Amino acid sequence: MTPLAERYREWLPLEAGARVVSLGEGSTPLVRAESLSDELGLDLWLKLESANPTGSFKDRGMTVAVSCALARGARSVICASTGNTAASAAAYAARAGLTAAILLPRGAVALGKLAQARATGARLLEVRGSFDQALRAAAALAESHAAYALVNSINPDRIEGQKTAAFELVEELGRAPDVVALPYGGGGNTRAYARGFAEWGAGLPRLVAGAATRRADTFASAIRIVEPVHAAEAEAAVRESHGAVVPLADEEIEAAWRLLSEREGVFCEPASAAGLAALRKAGATGTAIVVVTGHGLKDAAAVERAAGPVAEVDPDPDALAKSLG
Ligand SMILES: *Cc1c(COP(=O)(O)O)cnc(C)c1O
Repeated sequence: MTPLAERYREWLPLEAGARVVSLGEGSTPLVRAESLSDELGLDLWLKLESANPTGSFKDRGMTVAVSCALARGARSVICASTGNTAASAAAYAARAGLTAAILLPRGAVALGKLAQARATGARLLEVRGSFDQALRAAAALAESHAAYALVNSINPDRIEGQKTAAFELVEELGRAPDVVALPYGGGGNTRAYARGFAEWGAGLPRLVAGAATRRADTFASAIRIVEPVHAAEAEAAVRESHGAVVPLADEEIEAAWRLLSEREGVFCEPASAAGLAALRKAGATGTAIVVVTGHGLKDAAAVERAAGPVAEVDPDPDALAKSLG
């Protein structure tokens, strides 16, 4: 597949001739959810952003942010992250020959994401504090030291890259969908979709953004963000679209997460099911997209909550039949 920075280069803030740091991101599968379409009385499609190179939509923004950082002479990228930004920043920095400094809020990061960042040799630091405090510290360092480029989503290049998911949806469907449902963590991605549809001139779908009621300690770790940095713009976009921000209990996120796996075979991380959970709660009609933001293997430990223990059996057909009952 053509990397998104080439596919949509004229829409992105990349200088002519600038090196594009790419791992082949974008052009992700759009899969019809047959079973859930029937259940919800909708034409429901899943945009599998989990199929991006490091397993989350963050790669769309990171290819642009790291390419721009390289062009501007940065030597290191820095971010605060609950995991997926870290995994993505570390991979694209490695690809670009830059170092990556990753600030992790204490105890709040899923294991798979941590492994991805550590594998690249990135400099990981656990910050004694919340995500929001880590982000402020990273931003202040980048502000005062030109060698560091901040690649959190307050870097506008991130949003620019992420808006390309909306372009792909319109190109694939031949028009804008009626509804786009997605998780609401910091709100950057909600903003990015709104911008993408606006720039493409295809009309703004209703944006349905699922937020954890328990922002500080939801089991959906990717949206464990107490102070959404894009709240004002994201919520303005949701209002303009006649959509809704839908507060979700962890039980509602978990139920939607199980449905995606059990009914559609789509194993995502818990936060990635917040779009479906919000859609089920708010209701919708027409053609709806659920953005599946990150892969299930990112947070395999979450499965322990939901799945029963594995039974033991002898290697014998009768024993198998009995156990499978
Ligand atoms: C980052 C992330 C989110 C939240 O996106 P925002 O842009 O912060 O709202 C949701 N799901 C996954 C898997 C993520 O990595």
